[in-house]
Amino acid sequence: MHSPVLSRLAAVLALAVSSFTAQAAVPLADVERAILPVAAWGGTPADPAKARRHEITHVTLHHQGEPFKPGTDPQAYLRRLQSWSRSSKGWLDIPYHYIIDLDGRIHAGRDIAYAGDTNTEYDPKGHALIEVVGNFEEVEPNQKQLDAVVDLMAMLAAKYKVGLDGIQSHRDYSDQTVCPGANLYRYVQEGYFRQKVALRLAQEQVSK
Ligand SMILES: [Zn+2]
Repeated sequence: MHSPVLSRLAAVLALAVSSFTAQAAVPLADVERAILPVAAWGGTPADPAKARRHEITHVTLHHQGEPFKPGTDPQAYLRRLQSWSRSSKGWLDIPYHYIIDLDGRIHAGRDIAYAGDTNTEYDPKGHALIEVVGNFEEVEPNQKQLDAVVDLMAMLAAKYKVGLDGIQSHRDYSDQTVCPGANLYRYVQEGYFRQKVALRLAQEQVSK
C-alpha cells in the first residue's frame, strides 16, 4: 500500500470495523445481569428437595407453541405457566430455564441448576432450555427475539463451556415435536445462531 490516500482509506476502514464490533458487542456479563429474576414476575422458587440437579452441556431452543398476542403481559403468562406446570403437570417448575418475550427481554424460569421437563421422549438433563414465546409454525420470530436468543446462547455457551455443536433445538432430539417451529428452526438448521454465537464469543475475547 504505497498511496497515502489508500493507506488513509485502510486506516479509516480499520477504525470503522473496530468501532462497529465494539458497538455490537454487549458484554455477556451485562446480558446475564439484565435477565429478569423469578421474583420480578411474581414467581415462587422450586422445592430444592424435589429437584434433579445437573451440569449444563447443551443449549436447547424451544418455542411456546401457542400464539402470543401482542399486548399480552409476559409476567402474567409466566405466572400462569408456573402454576400450570406444577398443578396440571406435576412438574417441579416451568419446564424452561429462560423465556424470551416479544420485546426480546429474557426472563428467568426454572433454576438453571435443575434439569428441565418435557412432554416428549428426550431427557433434558444437561440442557439449558430456552423458550421463545409464540408459535413459529405460524409466525416469524422478530429481530429482537432473534438477537436475544443469540445473546443468551452466547452467554450460556461461554459460562458453561458448551461448544457450538451443543447448540441445537428440541426437534433435534425428539421425533415427537416440531418445536421450535419451522420459522425459528430455520435459523438453527442454517447455522444462523451458531454463527452469530461464534462471532459474539470472538468479540468477547477481543474486548477482554
Ligand atoms: Zn420444545
